[in-house]
Amino acid sequence: MTELGTSSFLRGSETTATFDQENDEFVIHSPTLTSSKWWIGMSGHTATHTVALCNLIIKNERKGLYWFLIPLRSQTTGMLQPGVSAGSLGSKAGRHGLDSGYIQFSKVRIPRENMLMKWATVQKDGTFTQPKNLALSYLTLISERVIFLNLTYYTTSQALTIAIRYNCSRIQNEKKLIDFQSQQHRLMTSLSMVYANILVSKEVYNSWEKAQELQFNPETQNEFLMKLKDFHAISSGLKCWITWQGTEILETCRRSLGGHAYSAYTGISTLIEDFGVSTTGGGDNIVMAQQHVKLLLSYLLKPKKGSEFEYLTKSHQNVELKILDSNSILNAFEFLSGLLLKKVGMKMKREGSLKEAWNNNLMRLVECSKINSIYYILKSFKQSIEHCDNKLKIILSNLVLLYALHNLYEERTLFMENNILFPKQTDEILTQIFSLCKELRRDAVVLVDSFDLPDFVIKSEIGKFDGNIYENYFNKIKSHL
Ligand SMILES: Cc1cc2nc3c(=O)[nH]c(=O)nc-3n(C[C@H](O)[C@H](O)[C@H](O)COP(=O)(O)OP(=O)(O)OC[C@H]3O[C@@H](n4cnc5c(N)ncnc54)[C@H](O)[C@@H]3O)c2cc1C
Repeated sequence: MTELGTSSFLRGSETTATFDQENDEFVIHSPTLTSSKWWIGMSGHTATHTVALCNLIIKNERKGLYWFLIPLRSQTTGMLQPGVSAGSLGSKAGRHGLDSGYIQFSKVRIPRENMLMKWATVQKDGTFTQPKNLALSYLTLISERVIFLNLTYYTTSQALTIAIRYNCSRIQNEKKLIDFQSQQHRLMTSLSMVYANILVSKEVYNSWEKAQELQFNPETQNEFLMKLKDFHAISSGLKCWITWQGTEILETCRRSLGGHAYSAYTGISTLIEDFGVSTTGGGDNIVMAQQHVKLLLSYLLKPKKGSEFEYLTKSHQNVELKILDSNSILNAFEFLSGLLLKKVGMKMKREGSLKEAWNNNLMRLVECSKINSIYYILKSFKQSIEHCDNKLKIILSNLVLLYALHNLYEERTLFMENNILFPKQTDEILTQIFSLCKELRRDAVVLVDSFDLPDFVIKSEIGKFDGNIYENYFNKIKSHL
């Protein structure tokens, strides 16, 4: 998909697929240097085929961007096919095992059947049929974003396992590190975020898998198309906020380890390096937030029955915030989410030209995406623990409340600006946060052990299950001398 000159602005892609009716073929071409396909996973030395997004041209008319299966290398010799030029992008900031490459096409011919024609078709005589919904061309991007959610919880749960095991083992000034309020606060709030992200990611993954089955039955295809818009919005918003949060959690874990985080044997630096791309790959986060909020605004203007976002048009009366009640905090986020959207929507309407107004309010729009995503995660986190057994539910409810309070505190300015929270309540929120952190600290090791990540996956000498932080670390150093 990505080209040297663009990725976020897909409509600016330059690679062409021109239909040659006489030979029943497409001619794939990179007309400029900037049209070189760039960052394409496994294309540098390895891939034998690629599926590329190209501008479809039939009888000199551009029909839009569609996907084409293009052979790159011989499956027997590995040599590049005629007209294909490809190679490695060289040294990178992380993901060293990934064969990232560039590809250029010089009038490469492929059979007509190599266009992916499930939704859009080109017949032998050049007749073109558009997909029922133009967004169908980008279906695969929803799955990619959902995978980024899974990658985030997988990476952050590894980092947090290392950080919590180490902080519960190392003693400074007669105290375990984890018992300093500042360490406890940074690690327990991170723990609540990782649990929230695991549960929301699993929920989104499962419901997306289920929704995709609807596309295969002609009788349920319309239902699938209805759901597509919701999933596009949800996956864009969550991809943005969960990967950003993931980056913060990794940095928090790094800081919680002091100097030892700087040793490659403690495992954190590799996790940070490899995860770095997540806020950009699969769609740059700022662009994703805008995709999310664009759909939220369209739902506000034209409410859709049965949509996940019906609540945006709900009228709330007197939102009274009760600090100890996660339901009450959830309602407050729901209210704020609708209110901020309405405010920015009205402001943009007054400002005239949508394109100008959009850019002039970009930061506010991104804020709307954030509040809506926190609301979605909190709702899903709460729902997912409803059926747990009682003992487990007590601990998980504390994590839910901590997640709710932490986000409420982080977003306190917005809540106060909109008269949902009052300055005198902020101290009470902090007091509750510290008290929950203390309570959860007792189960901290068990809560990370339950991620069930074996030592060979974590690859950290200070984060092993046995807790022998110094012996393991020193033995590793000695084995390298
Ligand atoms: C390791 C790695 C692997 C990758 N693998 C693949 C792959 O296999 N296949 C593939 O197709 N692509 C791949 N990519 C590319 C990736 O999807 C793009 O880099 C990503 O979509 C961002 O696009 P861009 O690089 O063009 O950034 P740009 O769009 O140029 O963004 C640059 C900056 O401008 C800002 N910006 C851009 N547009 C807007 C806007 N409308 N509003 C506000 N701000 C904006 C962004 O926030 C960003 O800060 C990979 C990238 C990396 C780093």
